[in-house]
Amino acid sequence: MAKTFLLEIVTPEQVLLSRPVESLVVPAAEGYLGILAGHAPLLCVLQPGEITIRDEKGTSHYCTSGGFLEATPAKVNVLTESAEPIEKIDLPRAEEARERALKRIGSGEPEVDRERARAALARADARIRLAKKRGGA
Ligand code: ATP
Repeated sequence: MAKTFLLEIVTPEQVLLSRPVESLVVPAAEGYLGILAGHAPLLCVLQPGEITIRDEKGTSHYCTSGGFLEATPAKVNVLTESAEPIEKIDLPRAEEARERALKRIGSGEPEVDRERARAALARADARIRLAKKRGGA
């Protein structure tokens, strides 16, 4: 049996997940990063993308909007604004969010917060990509 470590995924609203897992793959700022039990202490920034978790029951996939990961040899904490199982991604909602973000980025209006719109676009793009992958499209 593979060695396990405790994984906790926390959002501002809830503890989304807290259980022993065998492996974790996260979208780190520099690219996808794999973590196993006994990992060296690490702190890193996450970008919007896929979190893949493996435990004795199988593999599960989440879409995160980004955040932070803190690893110690026995426990890994993921702090994220939002994360949803990829089966729960609402594709039309993400497509609407993408359109809104693109309009905001493209508008010449001075009151538009472009940084915020770009972050919304990155979240929507990640959701769309993972929903399409889920659907096999
Ligand atoms: P929207 O403008 O559609 O709310 P958003 O990017 O502003 O999108 P977030 O602030 O990232 O939304 O997320 C708010 C909550 O809604 C989180 O709990 C997140 O998991 C959920 N959520 C957002 N978009 C989707 C989606 N397309 N499908 C499923 N859940 C979503």
